[in-house]
Amino acid sequence: MSVVALSGGIGGAKLALGLYRSLPPGKLTVIANTGDDFDHLGLHISPDVDTTLYTLSGLANPVLGWGRRDETWTFMETLERLGGETWFRLGDGDLALHVERTRRLAAGQTLSQVIAAMAQRLGITASILPMSDDPVRTRVATTEGELDFQEYFVRHQCRPVLTGMDYRGAPGARPAPAIAAALADPALEAVIICPSNPYLSIAPILAVPGLRDMLKKASAPVIAVSPLIGGKAVKGPTAKIMTELGIPVSPAAVTDYYGSLIDGFILDQRDASLADGLKSTVKLADTLMNTLEDRERLARECLAFAKELKRP
Ligand code: GDP
Repeated sequence: MSVVALSGGIGGAKLALGLYRSLPPGKLTVIANTGDDFDHLGLHISPDVDTTLYTLSGLANPVLGWGRRDETWTFMETLERLGGETWFRLGDGDLALHVERTRRLAAGQTLSQVIAAMAQRLGITASILPMSDDPVRTRVATTEGELDFQEYFVRHQCRPVLTGMDYRGAPGARPAPAIAAALADPALEAVIICPSNPYLSIAPILAVPGLRDMLKKASAPVIAVSPLIGGKAVKGPTAKIMTELGIPVSPAAVTDYYGSLIDGFILDQRDASLADGLKSTVKLADTLMNTLEDRERLARECLAFAKELKRP
C-alpha cells in the first residue's frame, strides 16, 4: 500500500505526520506547496516544504508553530543590529537549511533533489516532493495593491483585504518528476488532500498543469479533509479570505471548490448538521488535531474511508 498527501504548511503537515506514523516506512509521499517559496536575503526559502521536513523529522517548533525547536536567534539579532531586513524571522538552525538549499540549487540540483537529500539527512523515510521544480509564486491582489505571498502573510500578517490571487509561473510549470510515479502506483490506496488552506496552499498545487489529470487517473480515491470546524478556521486566514472573496465560510464551499476532483470529504463531527448539503460522499470524524494521537487517529480514519471508497 502507498498513500499520497497534498499539503501546505502547518495544518497540512499535522495530518501528514499522522499518516507518516500510521504507514510502514517508505509508503507516504507528500506533495508540498511551493507557491509560498521566495527569495529572501539571497536565499531560496520554501516555507511549506520546510514545515513538512521539520514536522516529519520531529524538529518542528511546538511553541511557534513554524521553524525548528530549540532554535537560537544570533543571526537575526545580529542582522537587526546591522539594520538588515528582519520581518521574516530566520532561526540559526533554520538558516543553515536555506543556505545549503540555495548552494545546491546554484550548483545545478533541482528542488526535488535538494529536498530528497535534506529529508534523507533528517532521517525521514517519506518522499517529500515539491509540486514542481519550476518556480511558481503565489501573488495576492489586495485593496492595498498586489503583494508577494510572504509579504501578505508574514510582513502584513494577512491584514490587507484580499480580492484575488494568482499562481505566477504555474501555466508553464511541470509537476516534479516523481509525482507521476507516485500517483500511478498500482498499490496506491489513498490520495489525501490535507486540511490546508484550499485557496493559498492546495490551489497552487492543482494549478500545475497535468497534476489534476494525474489525480483523476489515480487508482485510489481522493479524499479531502475539511479545513473548517464550526464555521471557523482552526488557525490562519482561510475563513477571512473566504469572506473577502465572497465565498460562504462553509464546508459546502470547500467541497464545491474541489468539485469532481474528490471522491470523499471528511467533515468535522461538530458540523454533522451540514452533511446533507455537501456534494460529496461524507464521513464524519473529529478532525481537530491537537495531540499526536489526534493526528494518528485522523490519519487512520482517512485510510479507512479510502478503503470504503475504493475506485472501481
Ligand atoms: P497550511 O495551509 O497547511 O499552510 O496551514 P495553516 O496552518 O495555515 O492552516 C490552513 C487550514 O488548515 C486552515 O483552514 C485551518 O483551519 C486548517 N487546520 C489547521 N489545523 C487543523 C486541524 O487540526 N484540523 C482541521 N480540520 N483543520 C485544521
